[in-house]
This record gives sequence, structure tokens and C-alpha cells, in this order.
Amino acid sequence: MNLDPYILVVDDQMAIIEALGELLGEQHDVRFALSAQQALQQIERQTPDLILLDIMMPDMDGYELCRILKSRPQTTEIPVIFITALATPAQETRGLDAGAVDYIVKPFNPAIVRARVRNHLALKHAKDQLRILAQTDSLTGLANRRYLFERLQQEFERAGALPEIAAFGIVLLDIDYFKRFNDSQGHLAGDFCLQRVTAAVKAELRHPNDLMARYGGEEFCCLLAETSPEKARQIAERICACVAELAIPHPKAPVRHIVTISAGVAHWHPECVSVEALLQIADQALYAAKAAGRNQAYFGV
Ligand code: GH3
Ligand code: MG
Ligand code: MG
Repeated sequence: MNLDPYILVVDDQMAIIEALGELLGEQHDVRFALSAQQALQQIERQTPDLILLDIMMPDMDGYELCRILKSRPQTTEIPVIFITALATPAQETRGLDAGAVDYIVKPFNPAIVRARVRNHLALKHAKDQLRILAQTDSLTGLANRRYLFERLQQEFERAGALPEIAAFGIVLLDIDYFKRFNDSQGHLAGDFCLQRVTAAVKAELRHPNDLMARYGGEEFCCLLAETSPEKARQIAERICACVAELAIPHPKAPVRHIVTISAGVAHWHPECVSVEALLQIADQALYAAKAAGRNQAYFGV
């Protein structure tokens, strides 16, 4: 696998592609497209870290391609630098207004192109890191609550549009008697326990769009993508079982003296009004699972 930053050069002139390939190829994974259509296909296959884009091309021009890329959530974060012979301030303004981060006029100075590419890649990397940090819980490495709500909202809208395929389940999880665990074993052991529970539960999620998030202190939420109510119930039961199977000693737990977890399950249905309403159902089910003796999953309706 190539770990160099992937730069896509889009230009209908082979000579420019060759020159940029030579200029940047040593430290970057440089690939090219000879038209906007070809570029869109390549971007779909793998997202570039940076795009160097010509403006004057047959069929679709660079302004239009840039506008399309900026309008799609999957591609809006890719920095685009125009490299073009169009040198008037109005043309440059139009390029920057289309969403490009920079504008370089041909014939270009190789050292300046290299420097600008390096700077924009560094900015892109810093932005990516920040985005990951803003979505991640630092103790467990799981998605945090903010990211969970974003994904739940997307999933909720998708289910509304494609109910046959995209119906989903959510499982709220809460570790049983965890305050006693902390009080008796110490907070460091508590943190380690949270990490082990995380790993075990995550291993039970099999669909590529499933998500496990840290919901609060010792509470987690799993999003079960494209699943039936019955399947969601089974997965929740398996999650409870897999935590018990870890057999983490918990001498202060009243029944089995190991760490266990309780689960509340809710499943999307067409009458469901909001993500919050769905979470409320799961929360009530979780409460019922606790009241019924813990270490079990309850299905909410
Ligand atoms: P229940 O079975 O009813 O869920 O009881 P509980 O003790 O688990 O519930 P409670 O809400 O009273 O206590 C949750 C405890 O989780 C309180 C706190 O000590 C612990 N906790 C929350 N976040 C963390 C964390 O990040 N690390 C550690 N070590 N403990 C945490
Ligand atoms: Mg709790
Ligand atoms: Mg608890």
C-alpha cells in the first residue's frame, strides 16, 4: 500500500500531467485524469488528499468539476488547487469562489508549486486530525456522543427514505454496579474495564455500517444498521453474554461477582418521530432490564 499523499492531477494536456508527475512524484502518489468525467470516476474509487485541476477542458470545465466536488459531502473536504493558463483577476476570483484553496497560473514555477502543494497537504492533514479528535472518545477510542448523534440522524433519514432496506436498531448499554467496581478496585481498573468491555462489544458488531459509541460514563450506544427487530434483539443478547464471558472479577457485584452489562433495545419503525424518541424507548427498556435483575437485554416498544 502506498502511504504517500495521493494527488490527482486533472488536465487534458499530457505534457502538463507529465511535468507535474515529475515535479511531485518523488514524495507523492501522483495519478492523473484527462477529463472531469474520468476524474469523478477516480475520486469515487479512492479519495485524493489533494486535486490539481485545470480549468479549460473539453466537455466539463474545471470550475464545474470543482463546484460538483464542493457540493458533495464525500468530496467537499478535498482541497482543490487550480493550475490554469487563465490569468485575469476575474478568472482567479471565479476559481476561488468555486471553492478552490489556491490558484496557480501557467506557466508555473516548479518550486512554488511544490511549496504550495506541501502547505495545503499539511493543512489538510491537520484538519483531518482535528475532525477525528472531535469525533472520538479518548479513553475507549470509540465514536463520541456528538458523532453518534450525527450518524443516528443520517440513519434515521435513510430509514425514512428506504424503509425496506435501511430499518435499524439501537442498543443502549450500561455496565452493572460500576460505581461499586470503581470504589473497590480503583478508577484505573475501572478505566481498563471500560476498554475491555469496549473491545468485546465491538467484536459483536458485524455490519460495516454498525457503530459503537460512548454515550456517557459507563454507558454505550450501538447502532445496528440494516437490521430487523428480531436480529437487533439477538445481537443485544449476544452483547450481554460476551461481556459476562470476559469474567472480569467484580467481588462487590451481588450475584455473579463478575462485570456484567444491561441493554435496552429499540428498533426504528415508520411512525417513529425522531432519534430522541427512539433513544427514549431504548432508555426505558434499559431501565426495565436493570429493574429485572441486570445482565440482560430488554426490547422497548
Ligand atoms: P447500575 O447497575 O444501576 O448501572 O449502577 P452503577 O453503579 O453502574 O451506576 P451509577 O450511574 O451509579 O454509576 C456509574 C459509575 O460509572 C460512576 C462512575 O464512578 C463510573 N464511571 C463513569 N465514567 C467513568 C470513567 O471514565 N472511568 C471510570 N473508571 N469510571 C467511570
Ligand atoms: Mg449509568
Ligand atoms: Mg451502570
